[in-house]
Amino acid sequence: MVQEAIRDGRSLSEDELATARRIGVAHPEEIRIVLGPIPLPKAISLAKWIERMGIGEQPEGLTLGYAIFLDCGLNIPKGLLVHELRHCYQGEQAGSLNGFVCQWLSEIAKFGYLDAPMEVDARAWAWASVLTDEKSNIWVLKSLEARKKGEVQKMTPNIQYQSARSQK
Ligand SMILES: [Zn+2]
Repeated sequence: MVQEAIRDGRSLSEDELATARRIGVAHPEEIRIVLGPIPLPKAISLAKWIERMGIGEQPEGLTLGYAIFLDCGLNIPKGLLVHELRHCYQGEQAGSLNGFVCQWLSEIAKFGYLDAPMEVDARAWAWASVLTDEKSNIWVLKSLEARKKGEVQKMTPNIQYQSARSQK
């Protein structure tokens, strides 16, 4: 799935490359975007687990290494892109796709989707990036609202991954 995305996906535009660098991605030229339905695990147990963790049955984005899957139509909301680009950064920090996925899954198991430090971090970057972009702003609000009502206060910008972690 990741290899196919890297082969068939599109690379970032100049604007998107600049955004990715600003977010901290070291090799944004490696990133490929695939638009369309998010490929979700076929295993029923994992699919159920994802639902139970509050990730939602139909996520708008999924990032695996340098492969970003987006199910959002042709106009990519900036907040969504920034969120997923930040996961690319986290993947680089983790050092490998396996390392990233293991950390992400264990954080979600431990803290829940909304409070997982990697998600808090990605959401904070998305939030900070869309403060001046009304359309994406609405996307962030809607997506959070849909996931868990009354959780909007968790969107307070909190740029540093470390400080997001030390809140726990
Ligand atoms: Zn995320």
